[in-house]
Amino acid sequence: MSAAHEIPPIYVTQPYLPPLAEFMPYLEQIWENKWLTNGGPFHQQLEQALCDYLGVKHIALFSNGTLALMTAMQALRITGEVITTPYSFVATSHSLLWNGIQPVFVDIDPVTLNMDPAKIEAAITPQTTAIMPVHCYGHPCDVARIQKIADNYGLKVIYDAAHAFGVQTDGVSVLNHGDLSVLSFHATKVFNTFEGGAIICHDAKTKQRIDNLKNFGIVDEVTVVAPGINGKMSEINAAFGLLQLKGIDAALQQRQAVDARYRAGLAGVRGIHCLPDTGEQVANYAYFPILVRPDYPLSRDALFQKLRDCGVFARRYFYPLISDFPMYRGLPSAAQSNLPVAGKAASEVICLPIYPTLSGEQVDFILNIIVGQ
Ligand SMILES: *Cc1c(COP(=O)(O)O)cnc(C)c1O
Repeated sequence: MSAAHEIPPIYVTQPYLPPLAEFMPYLEQIWENKWLTNGGPFHQQLEQALCDYLGVKHIALFSNGTLALMTAMQALRITGEVITTPYSFVATSHSLLWNGIQPVFVDIDPVTLNMDPAKIEAAITPQTTAIMPVHCYGHPCDVARIQKIADNYGLKVIYDAAHAFGVQTDGVSVLNHGDLSVLSFHATKVFNTFEGGAIICHDAKTKQRIDNLKNFGIVDEVTVVAPGINGKMSEINAAFGLLQLKGIDAALQQRQAVDARYRAGLAGVRGIHCLPDTGEQVANYAYFPILVRPDYPLSRDALFQKLRDCGVFARRYFYPLISDFPMYRGLPSAAQSNLPVAGKAASEVICLPIYPTLSGEQVDFILNIIVGQ
């Protein structure tokens, strides 16, 4: 009998959920005050609580991260071309297409798998208005170098920080870099509100503009200032976020333990490469990517299948590259010859299961499959 029949399936992630009973008082309060959305009390409380927890100045909550990304472009009036990475989830580039902006892909750094700052300048044209990097797997981009290029060329920087909840470098939140940063609180993310997202900004005026944009551009009863969208987070999601925040530190600690066990178990395994510690003071252990190199006995896809056969549903994030999807592959910057490092990473990566309740025994079971080659 195969192992798949002996153990329950292990998925790449399992959402963190507090005990249901603890959520009931929040629901009772919503039922009592009958304020369901449009900046209600839980929405206001969660914005403040997240500013305090993350160490950021202003945060605007959204119903999901993709609408937050799309609204971020509108808030800064981004047009023309935006330089971005092909090694991400499709929402990164989709948010540009929905704004009529052309993505320009640049290759990634072979060590961090984040946008390679050395490749940015060559991609700048007179139409370029912004750079949209991703803190991939929660590992910070080279924010200083990216900012320097942006300043030299008069470009905005919008970080897709969907993976970077709680990450700190040099004593501050990585979300404080760039003009705007965008979080996702999707069920699969480190901090979830079922669905949700947010834009982090640095000043009250920008926050007000974003708040208008996420509510149809409405300023008051008789004033609409922009073709805004409906991107508001509801009271249910905001209340759930407040409850989630109570458990987040414990959840991050449990993730750290899983990360450490994988690293110890995979150290010295020929052909398996773990991404190095990128030096952040506070990491969030959002993902556990490994790169399966040619000197491993199995191909990446054979190992991926072997894990599946044993009931371990790892994922090949990020394969295929965004630039290989039909709506992007005709772009000049999408050519594989322009993106060799990203192409190689996409062909080697497997993200192993990581979540707070993944037990040591389960990690060892996964390690045995990989090491037992
Ligand atoms: C999850 C994710 C998004 C989209 O966020 P949603 O909340 O699911 O809309 C965007 N970019 C990246 C890199 C993501 O991982």
